[in-house]
Amino acid sequence: HGLELIDYKTSKTIGPSDGIDLQLGLYFLILEQIYPEALETLSLIYLRQGQKVTFDVTPDHHQQVRELIGDIAVKLRADDEWKPEVGGHCNHCGYQKYCPAKSKKPEPLPEGTRE
Ligand code: SF4
Repeated sequence: HGLELIDYKTSKTIGPSDGIDLQLGLYFLILEQIYPEALETLSLIYLRQGQKVTFDVTPDHHQQVRELIGDIAVKLRADDEWKPEVGGHCNHCGYQKYCPAKSKKPEPLPEGTRE
């Protein structure tokens, strides 16, 4: 038997089942290097819905993940300015107390970190 990579999701909605999501894709690239032949399936378990979505690992996945990550890298390089955008996602953000958009009096960044 081969290995199965499982990621647990707590999101309210079930993601598109025809592609790999970014997080799973990143785990996949890392695990693929450690266990090149053994990784056989990728699964997402949606805890709220009690559902499991499974993909078989194919050479296509490798390509898909590389393209997905490549696209993001290109976008990150092209945008030299990133403005904080306040929204529901702030509730899960560990940066809130330093964020000038979220906090009226943001704390100074810990020493040695870049803005
Ligand atoms: S708190 Fe600031 S950095 Fe964090 S998600 Fe909200 S806007 Fe973005």
